[in-house]
Amino acid sequence: MGPVRVLELYSGIGGMHQALRESCISAEVVAAVDVNTVANEVYKHNFPSTPLWAKTIEGITLAELNRLSFDMILMSPPCQPFTRIGLQGDVSDPRTNSFLYILDILPRLQRLPKYILLENVKGFETSSARGKLVETLKKCGFKYQEFLLSPTYILENFPDQEPKASVKHRVAAGLEKESSFTSPEEEHIEPNSGSDAGSGQCSQKEAFVFKLETAKEMERKRNQDSDLSIQMLKDFLEEDGEEMSQYFLPPKALLRYAFLLDIVTPSCRRSTCFTKGYGHYVEGTGSVLQTAEDVQLESVFKSIEMLSEEEKLMKLSTLKLRYFTPREIENLHGFSPEFGFPDKITMKQRYRLLGNSLNVHVVAKLISLLTG
Ligand code: SAH
Repeated sequence: MGPVRVLELYSGIGGMHQALRESCISAEVVAAVDVNTVANEVYKHNFPSTPLWAKTIEGITLAELNRLSFDMILMSPPCQPFTRIGLQGDVSDPRTNSFLYILDILPRLQRLPKYILLENVKGFETSSARGKLVETLKKCGFKYQEFLLSPTYILENFPDQEPKASVKHRVAAGLEKESSFTSPEEEHIEPNSGSDAGSGQCSQKEAFVFKLETAKEMERKRNQDSDLSIQMLKDFLEEDGEEMSQYFLPPKALLRYAFLLDIVTPSCRRSTCFTKGYGHYVEGTGSVLQTAEDVQLESVFKSIEMLSEEEKLMKLSTLKLRYFTPREIENLHGFSPEFGFPDKITMKQRYRLLGNSLNVHVVAKLISLLTG
């Protein structure tokens, strides 16, 4: 048997391809498909020898797919129709069309793939798109497993319930970007808090202690920060240098959004999910780093409302808040050190593309589980 022939749909900047490499299975990506020209440039830069189809998935014919003769599909369909921050248009959102097209074509393939791995956000598991996926998989005779996964805990707690070896086709649907995980087939545990997925909101019912945070939320964060089994953020940070100055929050953003920011220090062991507006839209797109570690957050935010703008700014500036750099987000995503962006890709584009991507370690584990 030769290497597993992989079709990478919605390939973006190649998070799935990186995970495939990390999983160490013998495999070859026979085609990667994406319409985004910027993402495609980054993909080509990192995987120059992989055939990249810069076209829409709906534009691929059955005959073309049959000719590829693939054994595995790796895919990350657009997640906006399912996110809690989005409009939850689900199957009525035109961005789901290409996924429905795949489901339609799957049973008609000359030869079914042996493996399918699909990654999406929390919210997908209750969507009609997921319902249609399961229906199609059953019709085609696949065995499937679903996971709600947290990149934070993945390394120690990954479930080892192997799909039965006798089953020919397998699917693992990894739902990432959450702060708790389980196998929904067994039990549906709600994550301990939704706020880590980037909504930046907290329950209005509870009183804020300071900085619009409730005692409960603060305790959850404190607990996670004291869990010694989780790596500290400092392990993922770039060295301080002159180029860092571009990442500091501008005064306007500080004044306007300070209360809504999720602020972490290098010794924290958590962050919120970095979404594609990071570094551009401030609210709810990802944590910011407090580089002045000895300053107490509480002392900065206590009674700050009483101050003039100028005084406020002075106080907030003592925290030395900066955005995580794209490379740091790559590190948190588990991207290999060799991964890179072509020079001409702007900062905003980098954040945007990274926000669409995934955690490589999590997906590598899923691929091992799927094929193991
Ligand atoms: N896993 C990828 C990101 C997936 S995000 C990574 O690691 O980067 C979803 C991707 O699907 C986006 O890059 C988007 O351009 C692409 N996409 C969305 N609709 C598409 C369609 N109809 N045909 C092809 N690509 C599509």
